[in-house]
Amino acid sequence: MQHPIIGHQQIIDQLQHTVASGRIAGAYLFVGPAGVGKETVAHYFAQLIFCQQETASPRVCGTCLACRKVDSGNHPDLQFIRPEGSLLKIGQIRALQRQVIYEPLEASRKIYILTDVDRMNPEAENCLLKTLEEPPAASVLILLTSNIQALLPTTRSRCQILQFHPMPTQELAEILVDQFSVVPKQATALAIAAGGSVGKALTQLENGDPLTEKVPEILRETDRLAAFRLAEDFKNNPETLGELVTWYRDLLFLQQGAPRELITHIYSVEELRTIVPYYSRLRIQQAIQTIFDTKSLLENTNTNATLALEVMCLKLLK
Ligand SMILES: [Zn+2]
Repeated sequence: MQHPIIGHQQIIDQLQHTVASGRIAGAYLFVGPAGVGKETVAHYFAQLIFCQQETASPRVCGTCLACRKVDSGNHPDLQFIRPEGSLLKIGQIRALQRQVIYEPLEASRKIYILTDVDRMNPEAENCLLKTLEEPPAASVLILLTSNIQALLPTTRSRCQILQFHPMPTQELAEILVDQFSVVPKQATALAIAAGGSVGKALTQLENGDPLTEKVPEILRETDRLAAFRLAEDFKNNPETLGELVTWYRDLLFLQQGAPRELITHIYSVEELRTIVPYYSRLRIQQAIQTIFDTKSLLENTNTNATLALEVMCLKLLK
C-alpha cells in the first residue's frame, strides 16, 4: 500500500524545483532510517516527472494516465529493483544495464528505484558504478539506503544525496491521532517504538499491534517491595529502560513549565501533572542519572542484570 507523504517538505520542494527547472540528475541517493519515507518520496518523484497534467508549477495530479499507471505499478518506464532474498544481486544489476540503454516507452525518462542498495556485494556495486559513471541521458536511478557507510565513496559521489530525517516523536504522535484516528494513548507509544519513522508506525498499526501507552508504574509507586517486581519487568523488556528516561524528562519539563513541544508523552500529560508535585527537581535529575548509569552498566559490563536493575528500582523509589 502506498502511504501518503508525511513531513519531508524541504525535500519535496527541492524535487519540485528540480522538475520545474528540467535539471533532473542521472542518479539520486536517498539516505535515512528504514520506514522514514524514502520509498514514498521516490514514488512521488517518479509521478512528478511523469505527470501529464500541464500546470504552472510541477505537481502530481494523481488522475492522469501516467499518475494512475504509477499508482497501480503498471508504468512501463518505472521499475523497482529490490533485493532478491537478502541481497541485490549482480544479475539484477546486469539486467538493469541491459534495459537502461533503451529509450523510454511513454514518458520522457526511464526511472529505476533501487531499494536497500547497501545490500550489494562489491561485485554488484562495481557493476552498478559503471552505469552511475555514464548514465544514459533519459534515465534516472534513485538509490535508497539506510546505511550510507556501507557504500563505496565512488558510489556516493556519483549521486545527488538527499538526507531523510525521522520526525520528532511528539509530531508523529499528533499526526497519528489527527490523520489516522489513532487513540491518543496509543499514539505516543507507537511514535516512540517507531523511532519517529512514519512507515514503521503505520506498519505496526496495520498489523494491529495493540501497543498502548501507560505511565510507568515506578513513577507513582511508593512501596519499596515493588522494586523487585519492577526490576523483573525491566529485565524482561530491556528496551523500556531507554523509554523510562523520557518519562522522567517529561516530569522535569512539566515542573519547569517548559513549552508543550518539549513534552514527549503529550497524551499522558494530565496524569503526569498529578505526579509532578511528589518530585523535587533534584530527585528527577538523580533518577535520570541512575537510569543512564544502569543502562551503561548493563551494556558495557558483565554485571548481574537482576541485581543492577533491583538497585536501580530501589533508588528510583526513594
Ligand atoms: Zn498526473
